[in-house]
Amino acid sequence: MFISIKQAEEKKHGEIAIRGWVYRERGSNKLKFITLRDATGIIQCVIEKDIVGEELFKTADKLQIEASMEIHGTIKEDKRAPTGFEISVNDFKVIGWSDTYPISKDQSPEFLLDNRHLWLRSRKMAAVMKVRHTVLSAFREFYNKHGFYEFSPPILQPNQCEGGSTLFEVKYYQTKTFLTQSWQLYGESSIFALEKLYCISPCFRAEKSKTSRHLSEFWMAEMEAAWIGLKELTQSAEECVSFIVKKVVEENEEELKVLGQDVEKLKKIKAPFPRLTYTEVLERLAKKGDKVKWGKDLRTVEEDTIMEEFDKPLIVTHYPKEIMAFYKPKDPDDEKTALCFDMLAPEGYGEIIGGSQRDTDIEELTKALKKMGENPKHYDWYFDLRKYGSVPHSGYGLGIERVVAWLCKLDNIKDAIPFPRTMLRWTP
Ligand code: ATP
Ligand code: MG
Repeated sequence: MFISIKQAEEKKHGEIAIRGWVYRERGSNKLKFITLRDATGIIQCVIEKDIVGEELFKTADKLQIEASMEIHGTIKEDKRAPTGFEISVNDFKVIGWSDTYPISKDQSPEFLLDNRHLWLRSRKMAAVMKVRHTVLSAFREFYNKHGFYEFSPPILQPNQCEGGSTLFEVKYYQTKTFLTQSWQLYGESSIFALEKLYCISPCFRAEKSKTSRHLSEFWMAEMEAAWIGLKELTQSAEECVSFIVKKVVEENEEELKVLGQDVEKLKKIKAPFPRLTYTEVLERLAKKGDKVKWGKDLRTVEEDTIMEEFDKPLIVTHYPKEIMAFYKPKDPDDEKTALCFDMLAPEGYGEIIGGSQRDTDIEELTKALKKMGENPKHYDWYFDLRKYGSVPHSGYGLGIERVVAWLCKLDNIKDAIPFPRTMLRWTP
């Protein structure tokens, strides 16, 4: 019976059978060292001519990186081996031969992106994908525990929700529709049935900027709940993010090490997170010599400057109403601002969450939509939600890749998703 490399190491000694791919190989005319890789780890295997015989040793000599094979042998602890264990091979079988592997050391990021289908096998990408798995399941676990229902929104949607300029248009029979930018309007509709909902869904935005933080296709984890306002919303967001970080620290220590991330630093990321209003952020920026005119959105540089002061995520509330999406309501206590928040990650990873209370005033919504050149008629179904038993409600969206990039200490968001899509990249 085959076991994983991790299970073999846990067994520590004795006969084992494993299978995987050649990660490294080197050898002499008597000894061949194969580092074998599977989904759980890597291990050094030694093939000796005297043990396996002349014929099989010749086969071993032809093995190239990424060939797949089965190995039968004896495992023992060995301080000199890269992972502290070594397998002495009794017998092996090649399952799939490998040509000369195109990926070697020191290749350019573009080359690795062109060969992403192969580069996914690297220790780095495998580590990132494991962390990503933890982030997704932690978000689900957190909201399941808090009595939320997982919801499946439509991906093809007739309306914009985050601005018409980044919509992807899709030919739809004799007419057209759009790829979703967010589930939000649909999440809002369904709180009237289930009250507390979340979803994890792909989102599509035709971002024209070529930043290290934007993808054209990304995954958003969103929640929407009836009867809550901005205060409860930000609490839910900070507790969820703390939970995600805790889970990653618990479950991905090995991966964080591969990625060069400092686990101790992550252990300190615990709710509550600091809070500032947009206006307070501007005051702090001004003291640092960075003058931003009230009413202008914070740019990446300003987000980075303000985050120099924090080693935990920061919650920024009350952005100017004028520059916010149409559904964010004005604050009755300060009508120039909206009841909304962004969560900014430390170390220059920028905005990881955007959220708000939702406007329930049809007149205000109509005004905001008209101002952005939208036809309010197209939103009649959305206005219905305000006509039949409207309730206060709020929600937020967390960018999965932004969080993964932050936790994995990645230079570029493109490495936070298996197959990135940007303005300039949509293959392989
Ligand atoms: P930004 O100002 O960074 O473009 P946004 O204000 O457009 O973000 P929201 O509409 O609030 O973002 O979306 C919620 C979250 O989704 C963001 O906080 C971010 O984490 C993530 N997100 C938004 N756009 C993208 C994108 N193009 N690629 C990856 N993640 C994104
Ligand atoms: Mg944006």
